[in-house]
Formats: sequence, C-alpha cells, structure tokens
Amino acid sequence: MPRILLLGGTTEASLAARALAQAGVDAVFSYAGRTDAPAPQPLPMRVGGFGGVAGLVEYCRAEKISHMIDATHPFAAQISRNAHEACRTLGLPLLALKRAPWVAGAGDDWRDVGDIAGAVAALPAAPARVFLAIGKQNLQAFAALPQHHFLLRLVDTPAALPLPNATVIIAKGPFDVEGDMSLMVAHQITHIIAKNAGGHGAAAKLVAARALRLPVIMIARPDLPQCDTVETVADMMDWLAHHSAFRGV
Ligand code: NAP
Repeated sequence: MPRILLLGGTTEASLAARALAQAGVDAVFSYAGRTDAPAPQPLPMRVGGFGGVAGLVEYCRAEKISHMIDATHPFAAQISRNAHEACRTLGLPLLALKRAPWVAGAGDDWRDVGDIAGAVAALPAAPARVFLAIGKQNLQAFAALPQHHFLLRLVDTPAALPLPNATVIIAKGPFDVEGDMSLMVAHQITHIIAKNAGGHGAAAKLVAARALRLPVIMIARPDLPQCDTVETVADMMDWLAHHSAFRGV
C-alpha cells in the first residue's frame, strides 16, 4: 500500500500535509526538531533526525514508505542530499516540493554571492548596520566582523550568540512590507543579507529594501542532486497520482 514520507519544516510542507490529509493519503510528516514549538500537522508526525542516509533507509524500510516528498527549505541541503541517496538506494520515487527562487527586479540593488563566505566578504570594511536575515545557523561566520552591528530576527530566543554586537528580535513570519520597512528604519539598517529562499512569507524584506534603496547581499541556493521538482501542492498531487500513490485510497 502507498505510504508517503513528507519531509517538512516549511510553509509548503504544511500546505502539502493539509492536501494529503484531505485526500486521505497514508503519510507521515517529519520535522527536524529545530524549533521549540513546531506547528501541529493533520498527519501523524515524527520529530528529529533519522541518523544520516543509513538511518533514513532503515526508517523507510521499517515504516514501509513507498514515496518520499522533500518539502524542506531550499537551504536544508543535507537532508535533501540524504533523501536523494536513500531513495536511490531503495528505488523509491522522490519529489522535491520547493518554492521558486526570488529574482531581482527594477529598483533592486542585489549583490549575488554563492554562499555564506561570499556574504561575509561582500560586506564593506567600514562599520555597517546589517539586517542579517538568515536564521540562527551560520551566524558564527560573521563573528569575524566585529565592526558591524547585526540585527537578527529569529523564531526562538537563542541560548547564546556568536556575535557580540547584535540585536535579536523574536518573530515568526509571514512578515509584511510596512513592518519590515519600519524595522529597517528604526534600526538604521544599511545592508540586508538574505538567503534566496523564495516564497511570499519572507519576501517583504526585499520589497522594503527596494523602497528604502538599500543593498541586499543575496546568497544563492546550494546545488542539490537533480530529481522531479514541483513548486505547488497541486502539482505535487498530480505527481503522486501519476506515481500511483493513491492506490487503495
Ligand atoms: P540540513 O542541514 O539539511 O539537515 C541537517 C540534519 O537535520 C539532517 O541530516 C537530518 O538529520 C536532520 N533533518 C533536517 N530536516 C529534517 C526533517 N524534515 N526531518 C527529519 N530530520 C531532518 O537541515 P537544516 O538546514 O538544519 O534545516 C532543518 C529544518 O529546518 C528542515 O526541516 C528545514 O526545512 C527547516 N528550515 C531550514 C531553514 C534553513 O535556512 N536551512 C530555514 C527554514 C526552515 P539526520 O542526518 O540525522 O537524519
């Protein structure tokens, strides 16, 4: 019988969970367990890492998983690579549900960089006030630049911060343009650093940056192994139907 493993941790994954539950599909929702209070899902949930590729393979065998959907964040490269490898090992169909990346438009001042190190290098030598909108991971890389002040917006209060000169705001998206403009003005932001996550909930800062004529240092997505990829839940459902995931429903 078809049984789907949905790797989550994004808005798209929650939308996918809703669609699968409504369709009565047998599926398990998996969270990494990074946030203190993960949103409840209308599917059976499991929380925590699997233990690398071997653990994921073992889990899929034990749970009789027939299809895998990788709806993790576009920057969650490790779990996507593991999903790819586990599905290759088991011969399971894998679908990536990922939002389209953002594209710079008229009035944007983006400086494209390939990775976190590129973002560190793209900051000026002179003191700047940086909205470092990359979540809680990878902050350590910016500790080498103590002349800058960093504004961080995080989901949970961090236990410790590697940045001595930082202000932390606890907030969870989606955010709106007016709010992000006020935030940037209040904190006298001169630069924004963002990961090219795509989607609507985190795009407000880019529109705000455009309106305030602020430069955005945009970090490109990591390269991932190729697999079937869709951007919408409707296309995910079509893919599942095409891959016989609704048999017996
Ligand atoms: P990552 O670096 O790709 O993964 C690190 C390890 O975390 C994986 O090897 C796996 O552990 C575990 N893991 C990740 N996602 C998992 C899931 N959905 N279910 C079970 N285990 C998972 O991931 P990350 O960047 O730390 O992201 C962790 C979670 O936060 C993901 O669910 C992602 O969607 C979400 N998220 C990430 C970002 C971001 O910017 N990276 C932003 C928003 C949300 P094992 O090897 O032990 O299986």
